[in-house]
Amino acid sequence: MKLSFHGAARMVTGSNYLLEIGDKKILIDCGLFQGPRRIEEKNYEPFPYRVEDIDFVLITHAHLDHTGRLPKLFNDGFKGKVFATAPTVDFVGFMLEDSQKILHRKAVRKGLSFNWNGRQIKELMDRFEAVGYREEVDLGNQIKFKFREAGHILGSASVELEAKGIKIVFSGDIGYPQAPIINDPAEIEDANYLIVESTYGDRIHEVRGNTRELLEEVIEKTINRNGVLLIPSFALERTQRLLYHFNDLVENKKIPSVPIFVDSPLAIKLTEIYRKYPEYYDQEAYDLFSSGDDIFNFPGLELTLTTKKSKEINEVAGPKIIIAGSGMSQGGRIIHHELRYLSDPKNMLLFVTYQVEGTLGRKIFEGAKNVKILGHNVEVNAEIARVDGYSSHADQKSLLKWVGGISKRSSQLKKVFVCHGEENPSQVLSDKITQDLGLNVIVPVLGQSIILTKNNKNSKLN
Ligand SMILES: [Zn+2]
Repeated sequence: MKLSFHGAARMVTGSNYLLEIGDKKILIDCGLFQGPRRIEEKNYEPFPYRVEDIDFVLITHAHLDHTGRLPKLFNDGFKGKVFATAPTVDFVGFMLEDSQKILHRKAVRKGLSFNWNGRQIKELMDRFEAVGYREEVDLGNQIKFKFREAGHILGSASVELEAKGIKIVFSGDIGYPQAPIINDPAEIEDANYLIVESTYGDRIHEVRGNTRELLEEVIEKTINRNGVLLIPSFALERTQRLLYHFNDLVENKKIPSVPIFVDSPLAIKLTEIYRKYPEYYDQEAYDLFSSGDDIFNFPGLELTLTTKKSKEINEVAGPKIIIAGSGMSQGGRIIHHELRYLSDPKNMLLFVTYQVEGTLGRKIFEGAKNVKILGHNVEVNAEIARVDGYSSHADQKSLLKWVGGISKRSSQLKKVFVCHGEENPSQVLSDKITQDLGLNVIVPVLGQSIILTKNNKNSKLN
């Protein structure tokens, strides 16, 4: 059995692992490279394996850095089947449309070749087969796999794959425990080989206080002074977690009733998919749903799909709340609201997501008093707040706990591959796993192949 790392190796995007078992070839994820130009350009390079020979693709979750090169794979001659959980299949159908248009535009600008054809996405989607958690799928040749809950976003999964007496587990993206709506990552019983993500391998999330109560305080403070509360948010998962908490706060009369706008067409469409899959909720969300409550809807909620509706938000007098993308204020509708409302000290800007260096969000988060938005100089007089606990990613502590749990339950686990992280987080997590858990760890480089044998001692590097 041979495992090759063709993405997300010493980087955080482009997830793409190839497993070769006898004459069967299986990909785990087929994601987009995102970030600086030299990384994004890899999206236009040929796949480093014969695409026609790939039999199956197993998709861990819907984020583009795990799915965004599927259309390219299809276009290049992939003839096999794609497996994912049902919510993932639905999300992917929506998200690929947008991402492929963007990729195509960038390719045209740079004179690169990229075949884009909207029909292909529909044909690609016909290759998908939805699989539930813990459902065993037989891929033939004594290869079988199961999806397990990863607690990252709705429908997100880790993969447990068994072949020739070897069990290999791919973490996918692991969520932060205690997140609303979905269950915590599954406690996987055993593994011989483990591939673990390390996005936050060097960081501990400090979660101060109770997330829902802190959100309530920020809302009350803004409403009491008649202000506008702006919340930059990601369309997938983050927005639904906010809506879930707003649903509780409004319906249980913990906050006064004010207009609450979700000003993001993508978030609105993705929320519809959340409604379809209550069986993927955690107990609390499922019980609420079963009692007849629409957990993403409440009095005062306004969904603004069109640009016209979005502009009309300006005419609604405060106090009001606006949730919009992008999550780091790098474009999207939020920047129009920031342009309008940031200069007034009555207003509040609430951060619920990590702000990457170099983004407008990060500048404001770090206290910039003056920022440039859409060509205008804007004074930042609004109050800046943050509420932790909405993160979709496990921190170092939770990742160690996840790996440690498997290692405790399974005496057979001797090798861990640390992937899906920048150089430093991967290395830091790798050192921690070696020191704290006494496991044998490799941080693979892009393109590296490793032979997996039943007796780990014989594993050799190519
Ligand atoms: Zn993800």
